[in-house]
Amino acid sequence: MALTISRSLLAAVIRHCQQEQPWEACGMLAGTGRVVRRAFHMRNAANSPVCYRIDAREQAQVMDEIARRGERLLAIYHSHPTAPAQPSRRDIELAAYRDVVYVIISLRRPVTVRGFYIKDGQAWPEFIRVLPKISAPIGHLQPVRI
Ligand SMILES: [Zn+2]
Repeated sequence: MALTISRSLLAAVIRHCQQEQPWEACGMLAGTGRVVRRAFHMRNAANSPVCYRIDAREQAQVMDEIARRGERLLAIYHSHPTAPAQPSRRDIELAAYRDVVYVIISLRRPVTVRGFYIKDGQAWPEFIRVLPKISAPIGHLQPVRI
């Protein structure tokens, strides 16, 4: 089933990715059911234009926050500043979650957003549904800085 996100929340994620250029940006999307309610803009501990690494401590803090709100980790996003919105070989090798959507934002014009499940060394596309508005309240949290 498609992952649903509001246009404004997705726009905030894309802005985060653009701000981090030329580095890749990364973060986590949490919510309930298949609906993203919150975006956590995280820092790329790899400081790289071609790969990303989420800091383990920051990830633990975000996971606590997600649990505290009774939500679930639904997706992990990262940007490809110049590459297309396809998982790199490294993205596939390092994907740790089988049941989380990996969202890739390509900043090549036009900006493209694609979602994938990555398991058993393969990537499977997942549809991302963007709605103009989601009726239940949506929070938007700035990154937790350590
Ligand atoms: Zn990547």
